[in-house]
Amino acid sequence: MRKIKRVQRTVLAVFSALALLAGCGKAAVTNSESSCVDTASSDASTLTTPDSAPVNTPTESDIYASSAVDKTGSEKTNSPTPTTTPTATPSVDPTPTPAEDPAGIDFVSTETALYTYEQMMTDLSEMAQAYPDLLTVKSCGTSLDGREIPEAILGNPESSRHILIQASIHAREYINTLVAMEQIEYFLHHHADGMYADASYDQLLSSVCFHILPMTNPDGVSISQFGPDAIENEDLRAGLDDILQNDLNGGRTSGGDSYWTRWKANARGVDLNRNFDAGWDMYEGVSYPSSDHYKGTSPASEPETQAILSVADACNAMITISYHSKGGVIYWDYGSSGEVYDKDYALMSLVSVMTGYSGSSSVQSSQDAAGCSDYFVLVRGVPSVTIENGYSDCPIGIDEYPSIWNANAELLPALAFTYKNG
Ligand SMILES: [Zn+2]
Repeated sequence: MRKIKRVQRTVLAVFSALALLAGCGKAAVTNSESSCVDTASSDASTLTTPDSAPVNTPTESDIYASSAVDKTGSEKTNSPTPTTTPTATPSVDPTPTPAEDPAGIDFVSTETALYTYEQMMTDLSEMAQAYPDLLTVKSCGTSLDGREIPEAILGNPESSRHILIQASIHAREYINTLVAMEQIEYFLHHHADGMYADASYDQLLSSVCFHILPMTNPDGVSISQFGPDAIENEDLRAGLDDILQNDLNGGRTSGGDSYWTRWKANARGVDLNRNFDAGWDMYEGVSYPSSDHYKGTSPASEPETQAILSVADACNAMITISYHSKGGVIYWDYGSSGEVYDKDYALMSLVSVMTGYSGSSSVQSSQDAAGCSDYFVLVRGVPSVTIENGYSDCPIGIDEYPSIWNANAELLPALAFTYKNG
């Protein structure tokens, strides 16, 4: 059933993408922002409301109890499937064992939503070693607390067609790191046998280059997963305590562990998705460091923001995708016009067909500006969309992951196919 759905989706997507790139105008797209749950107004309310654990979200005790094991990143919960069956009688003259097929190795475990920075770094390294011709990993910056921000370069770096994908710029939305990591693994596993329309995955990977930043806010994710003790720098830890006290005094939170699990900002309370130089002056948010909605002292003041910009500068990205949660919606437009608008519409339409999410125009306002996609569309004229995965309150639990993965599994091949020629 799933396969049939995928085929239908692929045909639709190919048709849709080709038609839209040929210059078709607007179609039936909802302009409602009612389902937007990542805006200042909707999120502000969550700070003053005591958090209740949604059905699919791990409880605080689950998260903190499992942290001692997972934080080290040393335990891999899934082991590779054996490729040979042991026999009782050893061969007298054993022939050399063939190299293990990397396609048989399950690198990224989806057994828990608590996918850590350390585990991500291990998985990236192992995948790059297994597929050295298709994947390289490098650091594109360093977070405030000293974590290297990885950039996974998938495909042909010599190509002129570069696609930037970034996830988990908002800390508590770290389910999207899992999505980005599995997208890399999926493309690699199927590089030799995968097809999108009439193009093999190998052809696609030789035609385009993906620059995937699976966790652009590693300090924030670590805070959301393990609390402020995850931060090593003493000054930053003291600053986090000040931020909590300020939010308590201001009535923005009732405190407790949920204050940290629902953290969105970086390690000094800057909301990185309000730190871009597009409507930054217009954006109001809050005027002090907080768990979210503080835009910082100036545009691109934060090293994590600069890391994303450095990747875009180096590769001259032709489109960008930002992964967030939640809402099951695709934000696009941002107030663009002309050719940029048309190209952004084409991108949104393709993503809509692939994911099943609806597009929603996200024209800037004083409560919704200075984001990553805003910047690329409005300042650089680069078609960009924000995909809001899932429907539960963040952090989203693993129970919801299969449906999120199904929505995003073939997005990268679809993007490669659509943009390999322009
Ligand atoms: Zn977000």
